[in-house]
Amino acid sequence: MICRAMRSSTGEPHQIHGQRPQWRRRRLTLAFAAAIVTPLTAPAPAQAADCPRKDTLGTSRLLKVDAATFPRVGLKSFPETLPLQDKEVVLTFDDGPWPPTTTRILQALAQECVHATFFLIGKSASEHPGLVRRIAAEGHTIGHHTWSHRSLLRIPAKDATAEIDRGIAADEKALHGIATTPPSTPFFRFPGFESTPETLDLLQGRGIVVFGADFWASDWDEMTPKQELDLLIKRLKIARKGIILLHDSKARTAAMLPAFLRYLRDNDYHVVHVVPKEPAVDIGRTP
Ligand SMILES: [Zn+2]
Repeated sequence: MICRAMRSSTGEPHQIHGQRPQWRRRRLTLAFAAAIVTPLTAPAPAQAADCPRKDTLGTSRLLKVDAATFPRVGLKSFPETLPLQDKEVVLTFDDGPWPPTTTRILQALAQECVHATFFLIGKSASEHPGLVRRIAAEGHTIGHHTWSHRSLLRIPAKDATAEIDRGIAADEKALHGIATTPPSTPFFRFPGFESTPETLDLLQGRGIVVFGADFWASDWDEMTPKQELDLLIKRLKIARKGIILLHDSKARTAAMLPAFLRYLRDNDYHVVHVVPKEPAVDIGRTP
């Protein structure tokens, strides 16, 4: 299952460099600043200074997002995006959970102490609830991506609503054991970015943030992990910041992610972790 998007050529070669003492000072400063402004109700970011391994990328700060301030974000689909600084990126993964590759993605993120956002397909979540709980337990944000990844573009409104609600309920059931339609994390991404005015209004009315993306790796296209890495870096150099769309269901993405995270680390990029503005409602979670 893939997200619709344009095809593009591969990018220029990249280089990975070694030590960066200035980078470490700056990151620690950012980490300290984030600790001051981040209330204790939010999950703690996995900052480089807290990582059990030295010289990791880490998560530089949390960004709280709510629909009142940011109803729709991502320049590929909408006029606005998240308020990121230069060389700040948000990592997002769609179409999981898919055990063979999602686990490799989680391992790569953990290795660099980085937190991301996963937009889950409800049917897959219902089939792999343990993996859903693992994603959450490792500190990542869980968003929603419908029940079956069906396009919502040309189906009756009631069917589109059912796809959205069934997906959210399945994700919540996997997470907490209770199939609620108000999501504990009100983040949603349309399959293929195929929104309609009606579905956008529906989500905004429920206080659910719609995530597009600012750029992507086109990992639905046939290419090697090295080609994907080069293409992603090429686009990153142009955009300099933004919400990055990847797919944890793709083996090529799982294969290239460690090198991409090292590239971010070695070139002074910063990973921002998006979280809900309001703490998740306690709905009787099971362990
Ligand atoms: Zn998708």
